[in-house]
Amino acid sequence: MARYLARIHGTEEDKVNCPFYFKIGACRHADRCSRMHHRPAFSQTILIKHAYRHPTREAELKAALEGKSADAISINEAEAAENFLCFFEDFFGELSKFGVLEALHVCDNLGDHMVGHVYAKFSDEEEAADALNVMNGRYYDGRRLEVEFSPVTDFREARCRDFDEDTCRRGGFCNFMHIKPVPLCLIRDMEEDAEEERRREEMERAERRRRDESRRDGGSRKDRHRSGGGSGSSSRRERKGGSSSRRGGSGGGGGSGGSRSRSRSRSRSRSEGE
Ligand SMILES: [Zn+2]
Ligand SMILES: [Zn+2]
Repeated sequence: MARYLARIHGTEEDKVNCPFYFKIGACRHADRCSRMHHRPAFSQTILIKHAYRHPTREAELKAALEGKSADAISINEAEAAENFLCFFEDFFGELSKFGVLEALHVCDNLGDHMVGHVYAKFSDEEEAADALNVMNGRYYDGRRLEVEFSPVTDFREARCRDFDEDTCRRGGFCNFMHIKPVPLCLIRDMEEDAEEERRREEMERAERRRRDESRRDGGSRKDRHRSGGGSGSSSRRERKGGSSSRRGGSGGGGGSGGSRSRSRSRSRSRSEGE
């Protein structure tokens, strides 16, 4: 029985868990769905809801405000494409500050439950949690960002293959992800920039730490007490740095089985970018 339930989890056969929420992280019935939307407490993937202003939707809203028919709308495709790439670069740059992005997908769907959705998958759950905590409630382009953990970690199950082959007949109202394509060379460039940025910040942090320490050594007793209390996070980082330098220093042992997933995936994304 348990094995049966595990096999059908999130499929059409499963009468308890919603297959759409399970696979795509969004279901058109939302809270009114007769099946469960089990929102994870942690995930490598965050969903930033409706963050991208879809040009078709924006044009429809504008037409409605001006009392025009929705049939009369026209979209400057070149301008829309340019705007999308700017949007993508903004989000890639911003989200990369929290860790290594394994995927960043923007939906081209028009259904209310998916329009403008942005999915960001990080190399680990801690990075995703950091991103969620900072991004949730922030404003972008006049819009308050609403961020949640998403159950989607395998986008092959979530994306519409017909859209990828330009043959989806459901158009913008398809319930599978229509992932807006981004040139691979642009992604590679942004990955390299993000890696560079992370390295630079790491160096700046180390420099700040050195300055703080030398100031503390020369400072009064009160200062010493104050800075001692707030150094929790920086000492954690020091420990991380220390363990990696020890690993590098030990030389011989080539077995990297014990290395942290974070550093492993970083070096992997670096080698992919070369
Ligand atoms: Zn549902
Ligand atoms: Zn489709």
